[in-house]
Amino acid sequence: MNLADSSTLASTLTTRGYRRVAEEAEADLIILNTCSVREKAEDRVYGRLGEIYKFKKRKPHLKVAVVGCMAQRLGPELSQRVPHVDYVLGTDRVFELPDVLEGLEGTSPIMTAFGHENMDLIEPIKETPYSGFITISRGCDNYCTYCIVPFVRGREREHSDDYIVDAAKKMADEGVVELTLLGQNVNSYKYNDTDFPGLLRRVARETGIRRIRYMTSHPKDLSKRLVEVMAEEPKLMPHIHLPLQSGANRILNRMGRIYTIEHYLKIIDYIRSKLEYVSITTDLIVGFPSETEEEFELTLEAVRRIGYDSAFMFRYSVRPGTTAARYADDVPEEDKIRRLNRLIELQQSIAYERNQREVGQVRESLVEGYSRRSKEHMRARTDGNKTILFPAGDVAAGTVLPIRVTSADAFTLHGEVAGVH
Ligand code: SF4
Repeated sequence: MNLADSSTLASTLTTRGYRRVAEEAEADLIILNTCSVREKAEDRVYGRLGEIYKFKKRKPHLKVAVVGCMAQRLGPELSQRVPHVDYVLGTDRVFELPDVLEGLEGTSPIMTAFGHENMDLIEPIKETPYSGFITISRGCDNYCTYCIVPFVRGREREHSDDYIVDAAKKMADEGVVELTLLGQNVNSYKYNDTDFPGLLRRVARETGIRRIRYMTSHPKDLSKRLVEVMAEEPKLMPHIHLPLQSGANRILNRMGRIYTIEHYLKIIDYIRSKLEYVSITTDLIVGFPSETEEEFELTLEAVRRIGYDSAFMFRYSVRPGTTAARYADDVPEEDKIRRLNRLIELQQSIAYERNQREVGQVRESLVEGYSRRSKEHMRARTDGNKTILFPAGDVAAGTVLPIRVTSADAFTLHGEVAGVH
């Protein structure tokens, strides 16, 4: 979502006459669009601001803007802590930056009040000429006890289904092949009578987009109908990111996740019974306050039972202002690290095994360009959202190709264009 917001802001600035430069040293304005979801993300922003100070000393007219979640969370405190920050704009005010830079009436260098967002400014954006994002909803009403998002991004609000369908049509006309619909919890999308499965169906049937993805789901809201629509609509890519967070019911309850592991497993079984092929990924937190060794073992057990294709795994970090910040952060750091390492090791072996199952299969893949390591290989994204490398040939980025998987490790598939030897 931050990538999408950054692109929208960049295009707004370009329309207003600003020019993007390749190096920070050349810039007269540096914008950091920030994340507050973990302490580490904020630490990195402080690190970057420290580096930027060097430029500011050499070039006093350089302006520095911090926008997004961290700006929202800290407000004026941020410019007190880091005096060379000139502008602090919260999540609802990000797109007002051009007005603030021009000193328009009603603006000020620090703006964090909610309720000023104009959803129409949250434009669809193209990540590449052939792939794009549409933010279908912003904010979140769930208040998971560890999560800062509802505090920094506010309550959930939606774009209309007509707006989304029209935007997707326009993108398809402009050559976008793959579209990702974004929201903190897409499954709770509701606009008049259109729910999320209904929206997906409309985008699949009424637009020329060939591949449709979405992020991210909440297990309490993921419906059977969504899975059925995925099974029926070939344009919906067979990948579901379904954050589990913990395999222990007491911890899930304390996290405010509103589902049990039994409910979660039922969804997984339903998904696998309906979709012939699907890749399932997740988010997991270890060391949540009061998590015992036995409860951590339950997470490992769930991970083994479910068999994720990949996972984002974190050790718990306190976010000030959340409910969980009031709980004692009582799992010692060394236990958190040990648990995280065990979980990563297990998940990597499962990912390896899941990827081995792909060997021999042909996956419709979207070519993204050359491999990051060499021009001898090209990189593509499979329908299941895995990276696949194949020998470079005369294919343009944005082409969809059938690629036969010939080998795999835990992170990447290797293959060849089907029918070519
Ligand atoms: S669903 Fe929970 S974890 Fe996800 S953004 Fe909302 S509050 Fe945060």
